[in-house]
Amino acid sequence: MIEQTLVLIKPDGVKRGLIGELVKRFENRGLKIVGLKMIWIDATFAKKHYTEDISKRRGEHVRNYLVNFLQESPVVAIVIQGVNAVENVRKIVGGTEPRAAQPGTIRGDFAHVSYSYADKKEMVVRNVVHASGNQEDAKYEIDLWFKPKEIYDYKTAHEEHIF
Ligand code: ADP
Ligand code: MG
Repeated sequence: MIEQTLVLIKPDGVKRGLIGELVKRFENRGLKIVGLKMIWIDATFAKKHYTEDISKRRGEHVRNYLVNFLQESPVVAIVIQGVNAVENVRKIVGGTEPRAAQPGTIRGDFAHVSYSYADKKEMVVRNVVHASGNQEDAKYEIDLWFKPKEIYDYKTAHEEHIF
């Protein structure tokens, strides 16, 4: 039941100075940060993150936008651990389309554009963060972004003093 999941603060989140605000939301929920780094990736790496699967689901053009977008600035990669972490983090992040994302979620609080607007402007939907979609994706993405020694096993204050 204890899972790990990958979150990326995308270039729009980094450039808007939202790193602290976003990390806080996961910490507030009681989730544990077990890996965290800033990294500026290239196209080859971006294509490993956004694989052919995105082309099948969203179209080749969306994959191309994403690959360029992820290279616009460094991103912050975070491994988050907790009970049902994949589902809990997706809930904090909110729906993919900012227009439809609920207020109180990251995408609902920090973005607002629609798919149709992004498509008309031929641009990616900038929605601040990425979060793994399921446990299988989470495993693949954590292995891609982090070496095993970059993920830490330690006790939080809650684990030490309460449980
Ligand atoms: P999520 O990030 O919620 O898991 P997807 O994996 O389906 O969503 O899509 C990856 C990313 O591609 C989205 O977060 C968004 O930034 C972008 N995206 C998805 N659909 C579109 C679209 N129709 N037009 C532009 N960008 C899109
Ligand atoms: Mg996804």
